Amino acid sequence: MSQLAPHRARKRFGQNFLHDPGVINRIHRAIAPREGQHLVEIGPGQGAITEGLLSSGARLDVVELDHDLHPILQARFGHQPMFALHKGDALKFDFSQLATEGEKLRVVGNLPYNISTPLMFHLLAQAHCISDMHFMLQKEVVQRLAAGAGMNRYGRLGIMVQYYCRVEHLFDVGPGAFSPAPKVDSAIVRLTPHTVLPHPAENVQFLEQVVREAFNQRRKTLRNTLKPLLDADSIADEGLDPTIRPEQVDLAGFVRLANRLARQSTTDKD
Ligand code: SAM
Repeated sequence: MSQLAPHRARKRFGQNFLHDPGVINRIHRAIAPREGQHLVEIGPGQGAITEGLLSSGARLDVVELDHDLHPILQARFGHQPMFALHKGDALKFDFSQLATEGEKLRVVGNLPYNISTPLMFHLLAQAHCISDMHFMLQKEVVQRLAAGAGMNRYGRLGIMVQYYCRVEHLFDVGPGAFSPAPKVDSAIVRLTPHTVLPHPAENVQFLEQVVREAFNQRRKTLRNTLKPLLDADSIADEGLDPTIRPEQVDLAGFVRLANRLARQSTTDKD
């Protein structure tokens, strides 16, 4: 077999490779893959997490963008029948085509931090075929994902992800676990899509609009930030004090406001 040149980490692909066996082991224990399951790893890199996922006996598809890593992955895992490499951009990848009828995917990845938010929304749009997701992200992003109303870092990202998923901040990982070491702390998060949405909106686009408008100026009162969309009486009618700040409104409250806006815009059209 030909010798492959060692890979040099590329910044533009967000490459910080995991090398700490203790952390890798902890990630495997959190995911706990089993034979018969179907996993998808985003950005396998040189295979730090891949190895343990495959040894569980689970089926594993991986999606990797960097061409230089494809021969390394193929040489290391290509002979294993449960392994398949997809060469391309996870942001454009149709994950649902991997799920055979009735099957749900388990998605995992030490994600490139520069694309983690759009990637999560790309996956949430396909949440019907996903049973859970485990991601390594910047710790601050995990805190935003997990924050509830009234907490530091509560805002648009957490609300929109919590609309679709249960969010668990599992554990933190320091920069020393990676090579090269990133400048920030990281954390592992588990996202479990709800099979039945606990607070369904009549139209999720209105929820996105209300939340975006509300957090445009998070220090203002609800009545002031939402002025372009809803008046103070409408806010009060939905059981919310118009003088509180948006960060005090929980997901259920935002869904009520979004549903109000949806009804209001159909009435406006009539
Ligand atoms: N999983 C490996 C590990 O833990 O050592 C690598 C993690 S590294 C933080 C992120 C990986 O995602 C890199 O292998 C990078 O090439 C890959 N990547 C970056 N952008 C991507 C994209 N749009 N689609 C798929 N993979 C991508």
